[in-house]
Amino acid sequence: MSETNRQGAAAEIIFSGDELLRGDTLNTNQAYLGQRLLDLGIFATHALCVADDLQAMVRAIRASLERHPVILVLSGGLGPTDDDLTREAVEEALGRPLEHREDLFELIRARFVSRGMVMGDSNRKQASIPQGATAIPLTGTAPGFHLQQGDTLVVALPGVPWELQQMWEDTVEPLLRARPEGARAAQTVRRIRTFGIGESTLAETLSEFDWHAPAVTIGTRAHLDGVTVILRGPSAAGGGGGLEAVETRIRAILGERVYSLNDESLAEVVGKLLRRIGCTVAVAESCTGGLVGKRITDMPGSSEYFLGGVTAYDNRIKTEVLGVPADVLAVRGAVSMELAAAMAEGVCRLTGADCALSTTGVAGPGGGSDDKPVGLVYIGSVVKSVTSVERLHFPGQREHIRERAAFAALDLLRRRLLQQPPA
Ligand code: AMP
Ligand code: MG
Repeated sequence: MSETNRQGAAAEIIFSGDELLRGDTLNTNQAYLGQRLLDLGIFATHALCVADDLQAMVRAIRASLERHPVILVLSGGLGPTDDDLTREAVEEALGRPLEHREDLFELIRARFVSRGMVMGDSNRKQASIPQGATAIPLTGTAPGFHLQQGDTLVVALPGVPWELQQMWEDTVEPLLRARPEGARAAQTVRRIRTFGIGESTLAETLSEFDWHAPAVTIGTRAHLDGVTVILRGPSAAGGGGGLEAVETRIRAILGERVYSLNDESLAEVVGKLLRRIGCTVAVAESCTGGLVGKRITDMPGSSEYFLGGVTAYDNRIKTEVLGVPADVLAVRGAVSMELAAAMAEGVCRLTGADCALSTTGVAGPGGGSDDKPVGLVYIGSVVKSVTSVERLHFPGQREHIRERAAFAALDLLRRRLLQQPPA
């Protein structure tokens, strides 16, 4: 990500776990916490991964507190086993003895009972938290806690990602928002999600502008589902040019390349458009092997508009199930504009859907030729009996090509649906 300045409050994070250092577990909590903090206008300036070692943890906590971050998040090490040492590390680093909390103990016991499990002796230690700390209600079986140490809010959360996330959103974020310096910082973050424009092109386009809003930091971040432009700075309410003005200008420049302003996924946006227009959709997939259908049905409630799909990998399925004309297949080949069109039209006939998407391409690593290289993908769409096809070429490995193709298909449908009047 490119950054032009760094303002606002600082956060530090200490992740504990040998499994993270060994690479057995991917540190997804880092990505989650970094983003959520940024959304609050708080920068993670240090993130350290520490082994399951008491003294290493104690040193890390002490070193962090010397830098006086607004918040220090401790991720992991709250389980019942001997390698879970966060409670003891906080006890030693802060000189706050652990106190057994009978109310927590009962909550943990009740959680076990409700799951039909017996609570082990080792779980008893999970009911102890450092003196002066406030317990964070259980999401799994490990309670978290928070305490104020000088300038720093110290927060300990379980390593299991969904448990950590729920505690973060239900307890920690409200705490941070309620703090006076949280209100003063008044850093607002906006994410503008785009599809179909490369990160370097986007960065160039944006850097050419004199924004008249020097307080606003503009960054970009590339994902398989497009490039997100991240704006950070004061909102208009805080005086100055304001974030909103910059956002409006960027939207005007990028036009329909922008698909979301509030972090919605492509599938979510497409789902909303289909609902608004009152259309159903079906898919006919070759090179994506079902990924487009998977993405559409990732959305709860997609049964309202998704009828189904055909994974037409073999040519026989393309002709016999989708009704693709055999002569088109013979003359133009399976990876062609005509095939993509015939597949999309075929699945509309088959399912009675108002709209359809199709994919056919060379995902590699083999099977490429001079005129049909690896990475070539045709994406077909039908919207209310009108067919259109796009020819795309993706770099990279098989998985990358397939993922990108599936997102490109959703984006094609999105752009076409934007041109339709609401129902
Ligand atoms: P712990 O709270 O340390 O007992 O961790 C419980 C489980 O959460 C571990 O077995 C890991 O699978 C997972 N976990 C711990 N830390 C992380 C992390 N930073 N990112 C993703 N998963 C984690
Ligand atoms: Mg652990």
